Amino acid sequence: MLTVLSVTAAREKILKGTLSVTGAEILPLSAADGRFLARPVTASTDLPPFARSTMDGYAVAAADTFGASEAQPALLTVVGEVSMGQAPVVPLQGGEAMPIATGGMLPVGSDAVVMVEYTEVLGADTVAVHRAVAPGENTIARGEDFKAGEVVLPAGHRLRPQDIGVLAAMGVTEVAVAARPRVAVISTGDELVPPELEPGPGQVRDVNSCLLAALATRTGAVAEPLGIVRDRYDDLVAVLGKARGYDCVILSGGSSAGARDHTAAAINAMGKPGVLFHGVSMRPGKPLIYGLVDGCPYFGLSGNPTSAMVGFLLFVRPLLLKLQGGSEEQPLLWARTDRNLSSAGGREDYVRAVLYNKDGELWATPLLGQAGLLATVVRGDALLRLPQNSEGAERGEKLEVILI
Ligand code: AMP
Ligand code: MG
Repeated sequence: MLTVLSVTAAREKILKGTLSVTGAEILPLSAADGRFLARPVTASTDLPPFARSTMDGYAVAAADTFGASEAQPALLTVVGEVSMGQAPVVPLQGGEAMPIATGGMLPVGSDAVVMVEYTEVLGADTVAVHRAVAPGENTIARGEDFKAGEVVLPAGHRLRPQDIGVLAAMGVTEVAVAARPRVAVISTGDELVPPELEPGPGQVRDVNSCLLAALATRTGAVAEPLGIVRDRYDDLVAVLGKARGYDCVILSGGSSAGARDHTAAAINAMGKPGVLFHGVSMRPGKPLIYGLVDGCPYFGLSGNPTSAMVGFLLFVRPLLLKLQGGSEEQPLLWARTDRNLSSAGGREDYVRAVLYNKDGELWATPLLGQAGLLATVVRGDALLRLPQNSEGAERGEKLEVILI
């Protein structure tokens, strides 16, 4: 029996349910990219820990350059030199300038750097400054990046290369991240053969084991394909038995309500509470099953690879992120459709589309084609969302975009 929910209600049901978040593990920085922080990272010291120059030139007291110009340069006495990687040995006195390179530590008594381009050496110990600098100019202040105690990255944040870089800058060489959820992936259908075999008449290669495993991996999970199962209730129950102990189980195919569709019954056979809903008012991917057994989430996605992919992105992905303490990362994006689109009211449509830039705005060309075709997701870069209450979109209308 299909109890059809809206996309929003279905997602709420999935995310509000009790889910056991996977534990944390400690990783070296070199292995942490793409992982979700288990705890916030706070700066243990000011970053940078000392005021430094952003230019090659002379460290000065800005006040000593006030009013300096090409016609009336400020004449300063050159003292010492800042060596890279060392604190300057002498402080700067009034009327003095100290040669400094990019990244050099400002000497005590200086608060700005004059670029070498605006200076002229006059004899052994005098430099002419042809342009005034303001306090702080051409420098980075101590703590300007991050102040000691400041939260640099919040818990749940998915680490990116720049985050790895800032952790290195702070001397953090190990981080606590969420353990990767283990996801079992199962394809069902009498017509399916593994990709390495030549399909006979009426047979098709199993696309979804590879497709869903790749999607799960990109979402931070460890995907383990458990193979192809025939459309027999007993076989399904047997494979679900093998899938016990995983953090999430994703099946595809057999999620409709036909005579050969045993997925819902097989999930119910695993235990309580079993199937929580069967059917979501959307296209593609309406026959979607969600169940929980002993706290483990089960998805039964529609077998069409495009439908399975949309179902994954809308429902499985947010759940896998939640299991890792993370949340949706894509900011809300909008694009104008360059064709009229029609949609039946009462369901959400996810139209595959190619994005492009026109006059500084994001536009989308919808790719029309059935969910049974792979070309729309292969050629497309996005899904356009037509909301449940809409009956289509006029050319030029802005639609929400989900990048694929
Ligand atoms: P089903 O959801 O079982 O009704 O299948 C819907 C369509 O998707 C049928 O054309 C199936 O042959 C196809 N299909 C189901 N599972 C897969 C799969 N793993 N790989 C490729 N096509 C599939
Ligand atoms: Mg089938």
